Amino acid sequence: MNTYPYPIIDFHVHLFPDRMFDAIWKSFVKDYGWDVMYHLYYKECIAYLKERGVEKIVYSNYAHKEGVAKHLNDWNLKVLDEQDNVYCFGAYHPDDDIATVEDFITHPKVLGFKLQLLVQKFYPYDTRLSPLYELVQHYKKRILMHVGTGPVGNEFVGIGGFKKLLRQYPDIPVTIAHMGAYEYDEFLELLDDYPHLMMDTAFVFLPDYEGAFHKDPEVLEKYQDRILYGSDFPNIIFPRELEIETLMKYGLSKTTLENILYNNGNRIIRQIVNDDR
Ligand SMILES: [Zn+2]
Repeated sequence: MNTYPYPIIDFHVHLFPDRMFDAIWKSFVKDYGWDVMYHLYYKECIAYLKERGVEKIVYSNYAHKEGVAKHLNDWNLKVLDEQDNVYCFGAYHPDDDIATVEDFITHPKVLGFKLQLLVQKFYPYDTRLSPLYELVQHYKKRILMHVGTGPVGNEFVGIGGFKKLLRQYPDIPVTIAHMGAYEYDEFLELLDDYPHLMMDTAFVFLPDYEGAFHKDPEVLEKYQDRILYGSDFPNIIFPRELEIETLMKYGLSKTTLENILYNNGNRIIRQIVNDDR
């Protein structure tokens, strides 16, 4: 059950087929020294979150190389048809033919695509992505993008490359994962000029982590319509509740908390699923 006084939509969950989860968890240990806390496969993840009062789950997965996305997206369609109140950002790799996702994107529970630049290793403005950006805008869907320099950077992430993308596609509806960590101020500043950008809270509302989001509550109040709660579940190395509790301790207004934990996510899902904009 949900022990918090607010309903919750989790806009940043990761689900993969079981064997891929095993491989990812192994690579986290090898690459980052992270042993994730929740070794739960997809059905268990969904059940775990729903049992704790998460009303809607938005998950994503990504393709680390060419040719993998099709298999993942077929799996995604199976999950979406099997599970109520579950939505997804599908997989795409810039070397994939855009035709492989043209049907997939029309599924009402597909909210768009996830691009994970740290793992996938390409620039956000890479021209190979143009067909994807145009497809996403055509169907009024979104991109969930890991484009920040945290927890470790590489040449492909960071504010510079993202601004270059915005110069090419100023209306691109991107959700910037992890509040843009670690360049929080630089990414937050973009919200004023680019009304289609959103941010999510995943992995950065942690009390004792130096790189976490330690900004004044006023920033969250100001952008209360633009921030989505997300957990990064199950790929986290701390209890899932910690971030919700950190958010609750921020001293935010009730409306702001409700917007972040539920209303903003619900609005986006409704706009896409019912196309009622
Ligand atoms: Zn994530």
